[in-house]
Formats: sequence, structure tokens, C-alpha cells
Amino acid sequence: MDKTEKYDLIIIGGGPAGYIGAVSAAKKGKKVAVCESSKLGGTCLNVGCIPTKFLLDKANLIEKIKANTINGIFKDAGLFSFKKIQQEKSMVVAKLNRGVGSLLRSHGIAVYQGFASVSSPHQVTVGGNTLTSDRILLATGSEVLIPDIPGKELSIDSTDALNLEKLPVSMVVIGGGVIGLELASAYNSFGTQVTVLEMLPSLLPGEDSELIGKMRKILARKGIEIITSAKVESIGKEGNSKHVIFSHDDETKEITAEQILMAVGRKAQLKGIDTNKLGIQTDIKGNIIVDEFFQTGAENLYAVGDVIGGWQLAHSAYTEAEAAITNMFIGKELVSLSTMPRCIYTIPPYAAVGETEAQLKDKGVIYSVGRFSYALNGMALAEGVTDGEIKVLVETGSNRILAVQIFGELAHELIATATMALSQKLTVEKWEQIITAHPSLSEVLHEAVLDANGASSHKPA
Ligand code: NAD
Repeated sequence: MDKTEKYDLIIIGGGPAGYIGAVSAAKKGKKVAVCESSKLGGTCLNVGCIPTKFLLDKANLIEKIKANTINGIFKDAGLFSFKKIQQEKSMVVAKLNRGVGSLLRSHGIAVYQGFASVSSPHQVTVGGNTLTSDRILLATGSEVLIPDIPGKELSIDSTDALNLEKLPVSMVVIGGGVIGLELASAYNSFGTQVTVLEMLPSLLPGEDSELIGKMRKILARKGIEIITSAKVESIGKEGNSKHVIFSHDDETKEITAEQILMAVGRKAQLKGIDTNKLGIQTDIKGNIIVDEFFQTGAENLYAVGDVIGGWQLAHSAYTEAEAAITNMFIGKELVSLSTMPRCIYTIPPYAAVGETEAQLKDKGVIYSVGRFSYALNGMALAEGVTDGEIKVLVETGSNRILAVQIFGELAHELIATATMALSQKLTVEKWEQIITAHPSLSEVLHEAVLDANGASSHKPA
């Protein structure tokens, strides 16, 4: 039966920004409704981070088995079932999906399944229901950006790539960004011949160019062909095979593949939100503009997560959502996003926190660099994960740690310690007092910090 219900807060979108915002408000005793047109958990849980990481974990395992077969420890590299990988992945996603539903239920949050339209800053219609509330939080996320390239309809997007039923023999990945490189890594390890076409001269330009250069070499060594400064002209099809025409080095080239994956970015999802009518401003990329308290131009209308652009990371969405709820119900509070960890789950992965050398140089900051190689670490040797390096940037004078960049096994786990150090404004001297377990990959990080003071004991003189 259709109903009209009044809430303290209505949240549009049940992804990381929406569901964490809902829990945060419910914990403050507020009556909350979440409207979700698809599945709870959003892009991250259903068609992003989680399924990608499932595929990458199995891909990593295959890499390790291959390496241990080459060195004779295993007798046979073994066979694997891509179909089974996909089935298990779907089960993990479904489990987490149900988990978000029960988390919301446990906090007494109402979930309205259906496409919601925001008719005013206080009213939402969803599935025949009219909901009213004092405040609305827009957490509608993002959608795949498809550039206007002739033949684009022949390409697949990241959602399709995560759900392929059959392992493709070959794949061209358009876009050497985060999604492109993660999926390139996974499919390369599964045995697909992968080529990455990136329009810029380098991969991941916002990250440390030195470590990303090393990543490029290692990905190439693993068999991924990477072509930068490649301008894609068109996509075509003959019979069962597809091709991409692109220009590179002043020449027009063609590459044929079974699948063409388009991974050139994501854009704000604004369906159901009449920005003009509601008085919401958007930037040139279509992201909702918010102030430092996550409030849009319209009073009582807040927005967080991918829909406001910025980092487009689930943990950024969590942080923004918590802050927005505090601002709505407790009092104005600024949140710092400057120590946002960034992780790229290639094989091996990359992770960083703080600014890059290029950014520090631009600002005229004087710093020293500590570094340590995975190849000098006992645990890395024992585990056969010696590709990699950690860099630590330290402010000259104060000896405060300004940034940490990691390319190597478990970068995404090691970055948590570095993030804590940065957010606590730790100096090298303070970090020196922290005892690090041996053997562990954390020692690579510890030695890199000590190296910034010339105090690494395990680094050859
Ligand atoms: P991205 O912006 O990271 O990368 C897109 C890349 O495509 C860029 O390098 C760009 O130069 C290139 N490109 C654009 N147009 C092109 C063209 N016509 N031809 C060739 N190359 C072209 O975007 P993404 O990889 O799609 O990811 C989207 C968002 O999702 C990002 O903000 C990313 O941070 C986030 N994400 C994060 C994670 C993670 O945290 N591990 C994982 C997946 C996605």
C-alpha cells in the first residue's frame, strides 16, 4: 500500500556513502530512510571494489602457483575454472549485499527499494510512496563514463568485464587508470593477452612517477602490453573479432581483440535529481558542488560520495558521510581529507598517502627521501614477493613524515600504518621508537622511514 511517511533524514542511494550515512544518523537517534533503485552496497560492493578484489585475489594466487612451478616446488601449474571463480565471486558479493541489508535493519533504518525522485528539499517519491523529511542526503554515486568514440557500443564496461562468463583470449583496455590497470592485471594473470591504451604519456599521473614507472615495467614483464600517448579513433568489428584504431607516434595503428574494455572514468549519477529546480549547482564535470560541510546550494540538501567528485573512493565516501551527518545533527565540524590513502590493486599493488614529490616541489617544500626495497627484506624473499619498493618523504628540519608511497605486496595493508603516522603528524624520530615485528613486510616500511635519517640498519652502506 502506498504511504506517506515522515523522517528526520532521507538518503538517496544505498552505497558506501548512503548506508554509512544512514547508520551514523540512526546511531544519533534519528529516524532514517534509505532509497535504493538497485542493490544495497552500491558500485563498490556490487560492481566495483569487492568483485574486482575477488578476481585479483585468485589472479594473484595463480601468479604464485606459476612462480612456484617455474622454480620446481610445484610439479604442475594446475588448471583453474574461470566459471567457478565467477560463481564464488557472485556468492561473496551476494553475502555482503545481504550484510548491508541486515546492518540497516539492525539500526531500524527503513529501506525503500525503487527509483527515488527528489521533488523538493523535503520530499521524495519512491515506488508510489511519498516520503518527507527535514533533510535529504544525496548519495547517488557515479556511473561509467563512455566517451564519444565511433563504435563505442562494441566495447564492454567494467561491470561487464567483472561478469564475463568466458575468459577472453585477448582484451584491449582503453584507459590506463585505476580500473583499467586492475582489470588488466587480473585478466593477464588468468591468461588473457591484454593491451592497455592510455591517452596520456604516463599511467596514473597523480601518483609517484618513479614507482609508477617501475609498476609499468613489471606489468610489461608479466605480459601486459602498455601503449601510452595513444589516441583511440574508433572501434570496429569483423566476424567475431573487434578492433581498435588508434594513433600513436604519428602513425595510425590497429589492434584486434576478443573484448574491448572501456575504462576511462566515471561521472556523477544525477538521474532523479532536478538540480535546477532544487537549486543545486554542478561543476564542469557534472559533479554536485558542496561546501566544506557537504551542503549543496539548497538548504537542508547535502551530498556526499562519488556524486560530488573528488576522490571517488569508498573510504572517502564513508568519511564524507559521517562528516555530513555530524554537520546536520550535531554541529559544524570540518573534516580533513588530506591523509586519504589511495590503493591500486594491481599485481603487485600500489598505495600512497600524502602528496607526491612533484606536488611538494610545486609548493617549494624541502624534503628528503627514505627508500627501501622489498628485495632486501627476509619476509619478501621467503614469500617470493621481492618486486617493489617503499618511498617515504620527510620534511627537512621538522623531520615530519609528509608522504609514503608503496609499490609492492600488501601495499594496501601497509598504507594503514603510514596513514596513521601522517594523520598523527609523526616524525622520523617518533617512528624510530616503534618496534616492528620480524619477519614482516612492515619492516620494509620501517626501514624506509629510518633511511630518511640515514639510519636504516639493513640497507647496504
Ligand atoms: P581514472 O580516471 O582512474 O582513469 C581513466 C584513465 O583513462 C585516465 O588515465 C585517462 O587519461 C584515460 N583516458 C581517458 N580517455 C581516454 C581515451 N579516450 N583513450 C585512452 N585513455 C583515456 O578512471 P577509472 O579507472 O575509470 O576509475 C574511475 C574512478 O573509480 C576513479 O576515481 C578511481 O579512483 C575509482 N576507483 C578506485 C579504485 C580503487 O580505489 N582501487 C578502483 C576502481 C575505481
